[in-house]
Amino acid sequence: AQQRYAGLVGLPAETLCGKHIAMHMNAGLMADLPSLASSGAEGVGLFRTELQFLIRNKVPRRGELATLYARVMDAARGKRVVFRTLDIGSDKVLPYMKPQDEPNPAMGWRAIRVGLDKPGVMRMQLQALTRAAAGRPLTIMFPFVAQFDEFREARALLDDVLISERKLGYVPPSSIEVGAMLETPSLAFAPDLFFEQTDFISIGGNDLKQFFFAADRENERVRRRYDTLNYSFLNFIRQIVQRCDQFDTPVSFCGEDAGRPIEAVALAAMGVRTLSMRPASIGPVKAMLRRLDLDEVAQVIDQAAANGAQSVREDLTAYLSKQGF
Ligand code: PEP
Ligand code: MG
Repeated sequence: AQQRYAGLVGLPAETLCGKHIAMHMNAGLMADLPSLASSGAEGVGLFRTELQFLIRNKVPRRGELATLYARVMDAARGKRVVFRTLDIGSDKVLPYMKPQDEPNPAMGWRAIRVGLDKPGVMRMQLQALTRAAAGRPLTIMFPFVAQFDEFREARALLDDVLISERKLGYVPPSSIEVGAMLETPSLAFAPDLFFEQTDFISIGGNDLKQFFFAADRENERVRRRYDTLNYSFLNFIRQIVQRCDQFDTPVSFCGEDAGRPIEAVALAAMGVRTLSMRPASIGPVKAMLRRLDLDEVAQVIDQAAANGAQSVREDLTAYLSKQGF
């Protein structure tokens, strides 16, 4: 199947209506990096940093992490890598962390909440990232930011790390971009200042969907009841993109749906211009985008809803099959 898309690797994901959709890849291991060239991804839109913490029986050392992050940047050869700080808790439990007895871990002590309440590990990770970047651009993204204050606090921690690293004589990154993952509906309604101050936003659709519908992503019984192509969700995505556009805040989508062709097309029709996905999905998603007019897709979606459809899947699939897919 990969061969089928090989011819597309060097071609842009440009739609029939002339819109460019940037294709980035998700990664989490050094072994993923060769896919950057072979998939034709423009960069790593999400580097999940949990694995290095999950595969050991104790917290990895700062030096080890700095070496790994530097190797990842080397392997990316100047392409942008978005490093997401540790996102643990909920479905990602560290073997050496005291298990938290929480009634609802998905809504519990996880991700940035842990990082801010117990900043030791996050500080160490930020040091490893800045040391790895030394003289190169660095991009950091904080997971599961539910309110502006959390973003401000995390950014202040990073600023603090930068000052102390400089005092220790380390070469700082040449530039730093700091973004937030939008994974809870609350952040979409944050004050304007948040959108002005964040360098970018990445929509974590896996989590956002579960909180939007209040349906546990790990629970088969309720998860499947709510389709990504549910009009309410697509509409929400459209509003998030509009709000970001209003402040010129770059916005991308990095949940699994970005790698599913029909879902990806719907997201692009809602205005998303950067998608980050598993490398193997880039070919199929690109192939579809290149043969479509997004204004038409948006019309199909809105018309389906006007006709009373809650999920636009049926109508969109019918339209796509008419287009020869
Ligand atoms: C997401 O929630 O969409 C996401 C990309 O993060 P993760 O799947 O790692 O929670
Ligand atoms: Mg998430």
